[in-house]
Amino acid sequence: MHKASKAIMPAANSTEKCTIRTMKRIQRVKPFKPQPYWPYEWNTRPLTEADFDSYCAYSKIIVREIPLDNLPGCYLVCGKQPVIFLDDKLRGYERMFVRMHELGHHLMHPPGERFKRGRKEATEVEADAFAACALIPRPLLTRRRPDKIIEEYGYPASLIELRREILSRWAI
Ligand SMILES: [Zn+2]
Repeated sequence: MHKASKAIMPAANSTEKCTIRTMKRIQRVKPFKPQPYWPYEWNTRPLTEADFDSYCAYSKIIVREIPLDNLPGCYLVCGKQPVIFLDDKLRGYERMFVRMHELGHHLMHPPGERFKRGRKEATEVEADAFAACALIPRPLLTRRRPDKIIEEYGYPASLIELRREILSRWAI
């Protein structure tokens, strides 16, 4: 029964659930300021896995793709070594979204930041927003119709909606 209903109506993937949750929370979070040391062309053109790989190599971030059961990815600092773990089951746009989400944590959130008062939720919103801008840069969002973006890149409508919210609330 469970399998059959799943086949008829595919459940929203975890990235989609995250973007929907972030949409609701973004109004409570202050906009971040993009920094010059962020990946070149972030929010200018859609970043690729090659961009992610070369930025991580340049920044000496260890990236490990392994089976993760309960989360799509995570970022941590062991000693002084930044490490990004990624679930090896990620496919399609989710691969890039999760990569950029974790990179966003690396760029914006020093170790311990999420444990500061009121910052746990905000750090997740910021990392999602960073990822949304990496996948849908501002020129793409403003120059192309949403249905064309969906068609070309295979993004869910919820990601486009979140990206529009970032533009209208944060002017990024
Ligand atoms: Zn996160």
